[in-house]
Amino acid sequence: MNSHHEEKKVILRRGKEESLRRFHPWVFSGAIASIIGNPEEGDLIRVETSQGEFIALGHWQIGSIAVRVLSFTDEPINLSFYEKRLTTALAARKAIGLLEAGQNTTFRLVHGEGDNLPGLVIDIYGDTAVMQAHSVGFHTERHTVASALKNIMGENLKHIFYKSETTLPYMANLGQENGFLLGGNNVDDIAIENGLKFHIDWQKGQKTGFFVDQRDNRSLVEKYSNGRRVLNMFCYTGGFSVYAMRGGAECVHSVDSSSKAVDLVNDNIELNFPGDQRHKAFAMDAFQYLQSMPTDDYDLIILDPPAFAKHRDALRNALKGYTRLNVAAFRKIRRGGLLFTFSCSQAVSKDQFRLAVFTAAAMSGRTVRILHQLHQPADHPINIYHPEGEYLKGLVLYVE
Ligand code: SAH
Repeated sequence: MNSHHEEKKVILRRGKEESLRRFHPWVFSGAIASIIGNPEEGDLIRVETSQGEFIALGHWQIGSIAVRVLSFTDEPINLSFYEKRLTTALAARKAIGLLEAGQNTTFRLVHGEGDNLPGLVIDIYGDTAVMQAHSVGFHTERHTVASALKNIMGENLKHIFYKSETTLPYMANLGQENGFLLGGNNVDDIAIENGLKFHIDWQKGQKTGFFVDQRDNRSLVEKYSNGRRVLNMFCYTGGFSVYAMRGGAECVHSVDSSSKAVDLVNDNIELNFPGDQRHKAFAMDAFQYLQSMPTDDYDLIILDPPAFAKHRDALRNALKGYTRLNVAAFRKIRRGGLLFTFSCSQAVSKDQFRLAVFTAAAMSGRTVRILHQLHQPADHPINIYHPEGEYLKGLVLYVE
């Protein structure tokens, strides 16, 4: 039989359909008995049980996750499929008030598996959407998804920027560069989060240009900032810094090893609090800064480092890294101070992170209470069948 006409599908080993019956959206390569039709990475593929029964449709990938499931129903994957998925994603954001006019123009519309679109991220900044493919499947589908997005957002959406060079490093070989799939002229790059303004650099910034996932946690920093001396470590665009300023901090110091980030935070402070002398930013390594800063200077410290463990193999070192970082902060924070400490590594569980921070507290000998346990916001939902989707965790600690 000519493989060109043959349907692309995989047949699972006996019993390996169990996790799919519980709607887990990944098929691992080890679960596959045979591959039919010579699929190429990014192709749509059917998944069948060892009995030849349909179980899922998804995108074929090279690697330990072989299929990322789009649907557990045997249905066409086309424009109207994506419109349906995006419509339900939008409804979930509407349900939590994120689209009400005024205070917020930025939110995450699609959070991969959390929105039953594994491999796709879409962040909204005013009338611009930034779309990011984490799989070749969604790269291949980018124009269909962009059309679906335009159709469901209507006049509210003027620009779609496609940004996958960082998530698909070999994208150039697939025939595309970062760029606009819709609009692109006179783009307003200022987004509003809880009434605060931020310049968003989706062209060159990290992720889609902004860490949309810290919105709620930034509000908590604002609430506790009044009269405090605040250190925002790993500040990037200065989200936490801008909120601390509005919260009435006595001073806010932002630190990031990248001088580009220091420029971004200074811009965003200027945008919201022009001429305000309470803020200073420093381009410096976190460990160096924490080591050299005076003891008892700060009574609110935020530690929001980049993911220390990108993979499971890096776990042990990542946990040591979190301990080392937190012990430095525990040793220096003023008595009665608040430490906001985060991990965004998916490979590090909530309990492992807490253990790393516990170890740091014990090493410093301070008395520490947990006041809040923080996580990702509601527009970064976790598919209940895919617990791996829980990635952001944080603790607010009262340090005596
Ligand atoms: N808190 C930010 C996001 C942090 S992203 C927000 O709310 O938007 C992580 C940041 O850590 C990046 O900007 C990166 O430049 C910075 N970084 C990475 N390694 C660092 C180090 N060793 N010391 C200081 N900053 C570092």
